[in-house]
Amino acid sequence: MINNLTDLEIKELILKRKDIERIILSYKNLVKELEKENKTIMKTIRDNCNHNWVKDPKYYTYDERPNRCTKCNLVN
Ligand SMILES: [Zn+2]
Repeated sequence: MINNLTDLEIKELILKRKDIERIILSYKNLVKELEKENKTIMKTIRDNCNHNWVKDPKYYTYDERPNRCTKCNLVN
């Protein structure tokens, strides 16, 4: 363990850390925006696709037999 940084080096590291925190925050905000946009796109697809529902055993569970749309792949 190196233990001999100058005060200036410590200050630089603190600044660097703050910079990184700012970048992390901006990416988090970007992820939120992208997730929101994806939800909107999903809703637009769900509401506007001319669905073609088919039975798809791949999605079957013990008590559900959902349909899948061959065009948009939505399952319901
Ligand atoms: Zn569809």
